[in-house]
Amino acid sequence: MSGTTLDDYTGRYASRVHGMAQSEIRALFSVASRPEVVSLAGGNPYTAALPMDELGEMFTRLLSQVGAEALGYCPGQGSVALREALCGVLELSGIRASADDLVLTTGAQQGLDLLARTFLDPGDIVLAEGPTYVGALGAFQAAQADVRHLPMDDDGLIPAGLEEGLAALEREGRQAKFLYTIPTYQNPAGVTLTEERREEILAIAERHGLLVIEDDPYSMINFEGAPPAPLRARAERGVIYLGTVSKIFAAGLRLGWVLAPPAVRDKLLLAIEASILCPSGLTQEATLRFLTEMEWRQQVKVFNTLYRERRDALLGALGDYMPEGMTWTRPGGGLFIWATLPEGLDSKAMLPRALQERVAYVPGTGFYADGNGRREMRLNFSTQTSEAIREGVRRLAGVVAGDIDL
Ligand code: PMP
Repeated sequence: MSGTTLDDYTGRYASRVHGMAQSEIRALFSVASRPEVVSLAGGNPYTAALPMDELGEMFTRLLSQVGAEALGYCPGQGSVALREALCGVLELSGIRASADDLVLTTGAQQGLDLLARTFLDPGDIVLAEGPTYVGALGAFQAAQADVRHLPMDDDGLIPAGLEEGLAALEREGRQAKFLYTIPTYQNPAGVTLTEERREEILAIAERHGLLVIEDDPYSMINFEGAPPAPLRARAERGVIYLGTVSKIFAAGLRLGWVLAPPAVRDKLLLAIEASILCPSGLTQEATLRFLTEMEWRQQVKVFNTLYRERRDALLGALGDYMPEGMTWTRPGGGLFIWATLPEGLDSKAMLPRALQERVAYVPGTGFYADGNGRREMRLNFSTQTSEAIREGVRRLAGVVAGDIDL
């Protein structure tokens, strides 16, 4: 078929399509994945560290034992056995849940989409940290929501900022549908909400009747001991919790979950059935076996040891090479560091020069709904070796220094 750059379908699209911007990260992929480029733009966990032979045997066993079932349809909520095993995983973070309250999804990303469909009408207000996860922005914007950012610092979301945001909405005569937050090893900022602030945020939410959606893919990806317990471990009511096996096992399996109160769970089930009928049976069975037959906690330690070394390489190189005026976060876990350029510099404008120098990062603007983030950038440390990270930062520092002199 011949390609055309003109879109013959303009005028037919639903209005929500116009709010769907191309992700800056996806747009970057083709250039950043060239072999000569050191990409600090990625977000993939390092799946090459998985024991492939052992997984191969596990998949073979799975197919011979329960292949017919795993390759068929399953209930929309997902397998009971896996939901029970996941409750065991949640218990490690102090979350008490029953298998009945979990809805399995095609990654936490689908959980975000289902929640957006379930809660958001066009124009509805969502509160979120600034910056926030680009995929959540995508899901909320596709639902034509109005995302309002709240300020964060090195200790995570600032409670007084949440109070102010809520007061400003009250003055407008508006209410937020929910607060979307990533309290632990935030993507992209790499910061973690402190113990005290967790309690404060929950108290504010309760006082204002504000629903909290807690997105928690990174709690177990920690380098300096366990982080504070999730919000959902502290409050069963008023918090909807999203989890995923993407970071502890394999993102390509696409398995996540939403832990929600029964009434919300029922709505999510209707939404999931309309969307995908049921989650992948093969993926569910593989995840169940990972959690019950394999040394999965040992595997998480393997990831964490590797990421810790790479995080240290990134922090060390930033300290060694970056010019005065550049600042960055120091994450205790997760996959990302958030860096702020010296005053007057623009991470988006700088990107073509960085790519020319064979280093890639994600400019900050994609992580805000309001055009903020021009001085900021996200740097990933999970996909490259420590040596490559060091070389990438050396190149990037040259570009930053060049921009300061412009
Ligand atoms: N939420 C956050 C904060 C994430 O960083 C990611 C993955 N990058 C997701 C959700 C989506 O995860 P999944 O692979 O489970 O869809």
